[in-house]
Amino acid sequence: SVPVVTVDGPSGSGKGTICKLLATRLGWHLLDSGALYRLVALASMRHQIAVDDEDSLTVLSAHLDVQFKTAAETDGVHVVLEGEDVTSTIRQEEVGKLASKVATYPGVRQALLERQRIFAALPGLIADGRDMGTVVFPDAPLKIYLVASAEERARRRFLQLQKRGADASFAKILQDIQARDAQDMNRSVAPLKPAADAVTIDSSELDIDAVMYEVEQLLRE
Ligand code: C5P
Repeated sequence: SVPVVTVDGPSGSGKGTICKLLATRLGWHLLDSGALYRLVALASMRHQIAVDDEDSLTVLSAHLDVQFKTAAETDGVHVVLEGEDVTSTIRQEEVGKLASKVATYPGVRQALLERQRIFAALPGLIADGRDMGTVVFPDAPLKIYLVASAEERARRRFLQLQKRGADASFAKILQDIQARDAQDMNRSVAPLKPAADAVTIDSSELDIDAVMYEVEQLLRE
C-alpha cells in the first residue's frame, strides 16, 4: 500500500511549510487539502452562489474543474480553476474565511473526499489539512498534529505581512486566527482535532528546522 503521512493542525501552525519541505525531501506527492476548500469558496464567489446554499455548494464541489500543475522545482504547484491560474488568488484572507465556512457543510466535505484520496499514489503522500488523519486517511501509519499558540501564530503572520510591506494589525490578526480556530474546531462534521494515534508537535518555541528534525525522527521509527 502507499505510505501516507498526515499533517493536521490549526491555521498558521506551519503545516504548509513543513509539508512542502517534507514532500520535496522525500520526493513524495503533496496534498494541500485546504486549497480544495479555498477553490470551492472562490468558485462560489465567481458563480454567485450564496454562502448558505449548501445544495448548490455541494454540486459545485462535486463538479469543480480544477487542475494541480507542478511547474519547475522552485515554482511549486500551480492551481488552475476553470482554466485560470488562481494560485495566489486562493491565498487571500477573504477566500480563506469563506473556505472555512463552506467547509462546515457535510455535502461539500463528502464531495471532496474521493478527490483527496486520489492523491495517494506511489512513492508516497504528504497530506496537509484539518481532517487528514481523522477522516481522509485514517489508516496512515504516521499522523502528525502540528500546533502553536494563537499568539505565536499571529506573531508569525504579523511579521510575514510586515516583511511584505503590508500594513497589519496584530490585534486583528489574532482575532481572525481565534475566529478561524473556533469555526474549525466546533463544527459538527470533521472538526479539527488530533487523531487518536497522532503525535502532537507544539511549534510555539521551535523553528522550522527543529520541527523538521522531529518529523524526520518520527519517519525513521
Ligand atoms: O489550510 P487552509 O487555511 O488553506 O484551509 C482553509 C480552510 O479550509 C480551513 O480554515 C478549514 O476550515 C478548511 N479545511 C478543512 N479541512 C481540510 C483543510 C481545510 O475543513 N482538510
